Amino acid sequence: MTIGILGGGQLGYMLALAGYPLNFHFRFLDPSPQAPVGRIAPRVTAEYTDFEALEKFATGLALVTYEFENVPIEAVHFLQKRLPVYPSPQALEIAQDRRSEKSLFKRLGIPITEFVTLDSADELDQAVRKLGLPAIVKTCRLGYDGKGQWPLRTDDDVAQIKNSVSAKPLVLEKFVNFSRELSILAVRAHDGKTAFYPLVENRHRNGILRLSLAPAPRISLALQHEAETAALRVLEALDYIGVLTIELFECDGRLLANEMAPRVHNSGHWSIEGAVTSQFENHLRAVTGLPLGDTHTIGHSAMLNLIGELPDPSQLLILPDTHLHIYGKALRPGRKVGHVTVRANSEEQLLARVAQLPPFFHREEFCLPAKHVQHAK
Ligand code: AMP
Repeated sequence: MTIGILGGGQLGYMLALAGYPLNFHFRFLDPSPQAPVGRIAPRVTAEYTDFEALEKFATGLALVTYEFENVPIEAVHFLQKRLPVYPSPQALEIAQDRRSEKSLFKRLGIPITEFVTLDSADELDQAVRKLGLPAIVKTCRLGYDGKGQWPLRTDDDVAQIKNSVSAKPLVLEKFVNFSRELSILAVRAHDGKTAFYPLVENRHRNGILRLSLAPAPRISLALQHEAETAALRVLEALDYIGVLTIELFECDGRLLANEMAPRVHNSGHWSIEGAVTSQFENHLRAVTGLPLGDTHTIGHSAMLNLIGELPDPSQLLILPDTHLHIYGKALRPGRKVGHVTVRANSEEQLLARVAQLPPFFHREEFCLPAKHVQHAK
């Protein structure tokens, strides 16, 4: 069976790596000739809206899925007329626009941050009067890794953003004083069966994920249940098939949904070594109609993103249960070029292993616990 994947980045790369042992073949479509999947799978290099290329891409495929959520919806509708597309284009369309995402969460009774929608930055003064400061203004579409969003702390910030942001429409969100960021990865199969990974704790710098801890420390059964209930509502409302991720803020012991991704997610990379079945394998199982795999963790994992530079593998790989993933992308600042997963049998052992990481990781931006970074120096 050949599976078509829209997008040829690292998520697609890891989907293919998970799918080869199950005898799946892959074909990718990505506009970039340098897309990481080029190393391991055939691909069509074309714009997503090149319908001739889409026709060629679709020929002989069993189904199509995506690893990138900003695929133009008309491309997905074109493909859907020819073959099954999972998750549904409806899920993709909702996740592409913060307004529809927020109204879905609201309709399903999932708590979210206070927000106001704006047709353009001209309406910013009025929106700020309603919500107050501090707040964050975000583009409704095409934002990722902290791009397309601007914090507003003072009236001067408001004046500056009003004059410099031409993107529209926008949302203004109240700044949430969260205690930490979490995510829930969920998966739903063709027969409606669902499975959930334990909540993951995520630490960001400059809007980019730097560290995930899985399972997130200090999670009560009630909080896990709250996250699973929210994810289940979304999965069922959209008759969803595949892996879905919801990013959450933990705030006074409750969860607020920030956004969702209709795909495998960076905060689930740890599951390759740290769960019985990885998010990548479970996504493929779900979309191809196979039974879902066990989502239990194998001990405790820390996933560190490598942004723009790579560590010396010989210094890293002498450490126990430490795994390096390099995506094969050109090294450029701000770009996710690989990740490292450190696994252990207990939280204490994990912290001790993280403390032994080579000096490359002893920088604040890796978001490791300070005492361990100092201890390791
Ligand atoms: P997003 O693109 O919505 O995932 O936002 C990127 C990052 O910005 C989040 O992971 C948070 O660290 C931060 N952020 C986004 N929205 C808010 C908010 N309303 N209050 C505080 N921090 C936020």
